[in-house]
Amino acid sequence: MLRTAILAAARTPTVERLITNASVARSLVARYVAGDEVADAVRVSQELIADGLAVTLDQLGEDTEDEAGAAATTEAYCGLLDALAHAGLAPPAEVSVKLSAVGQRLDPKLATENARKICQAAAAVGTTVTLDMEDHTTTDLTLDTLSTLRVDYPSTGAVLQAYLRRTETDCRELAHAGSRVRLCKGAYAEPESVGFENALDVDRSYVRCLNVLMAGEGYPMIATHDPRLVAIGEERARWYDRTPDTFEFQMLYGVRSDEQRRLARDGYTVRIYLPYGRDWYPYLMRRLAERPAYVALFARSLVSS
Ligand code: FAD
Repeated sequence: MLRTAILAAARTPTVERLITNASVARSLVARYVAGDEVADAVRVSQELIADGLAVTLDQLGEDTEDEAGAAATTEAYCGLLDALAHAGLAPPAEVSVKLSAVGQRLDPKLATENARKICQAAAAVGTTVTLDMEDHTTTDLTLDTLSTLRVDYPSTGAVLQAYLRRTETDCRELAHAGSRVRLCKGAYAEPESVGFENALDVDRSYVRCLNVLMAGEGYPMIATHDPRLVAIGEERARWYDRTPDTFEFQMLYGVRSDEQRRLARDGYTVRIYLPYGRDWYPYLMRRLAERPAYVALFARSLVSS
């Protein structure tokens, strides 16, 4: 219930105004976001890479409402890739792109063409792109864009969400050689007709999907902080004789940092999802929805500020 309410607030302009102006939000944002500028993204990437981690960078922003905004986001990603290359970080840095930020709601073809420009810029500096997955109304469109982009850029990564009932089938289709697939639980509010409501059902689905990906021939990207699922990931890697160059763990910047470093020390590839930019509100709300314990704290600080 609380999760659904927070995710609904993520799309409510009055709540957005209240929260983005609150100083307490700023301090929470600092935990999850590298900073406002490309320079912040590059600096934090450097620090993480020095600690033995890889990164995937997200220029914050979504649900772009006009072509100019979609073009600006596309340009910003190309600029980011140049800056990463200039700093000698691309690779191991790659980028994660939300298609809604590059125009999917306006015209899926426009979003595909903008994403293609970002793939081109990534390939030019020797790295790649992963297409983030948004709510279920966009899943088919995003997978269509993925298959179009993979014709020229086969390393383009997909994201599948274990909370959707369809995902085990999607995993089977995408578990082929060369296919990079990030498996996460899913961060949006979805109706029961398409998604599992109960946390245990989501976890069970995650394990079924993980089994398909780890048994397959692709490159699974195990995106979770859940200690049980991380342990199952490690166990499946041993079972399927997967070497560290054939799969990776992924976690969000600011979440379970010790575990990120523990996995890296144990020889696994660990990639950190690192957002930066000023448009942090929906991202912060999704992180709060995952951590209801923070919400009471956050609400109290909001009232007293
Ligand atoms: P949970 O059961 O939510 O969390 C397990 C434990 O992790 C918690 O008990 C807590 O200790 C810790 N934890 C989890 N979240 C937080 C938090 N916000 N703050 C503090 N501690 C926390 N979702 C999408 O829908 N589309 C995407 O494209 C997408 N990309 C992602 C990329 C990466 C690299 C990662 C790690 C996640 C991504 N997600 C995406 C989010 C994902 O779907 C989940 O919402 C999120 O990872 C929380 O699920 P969990 O597996 O960590 O398990």
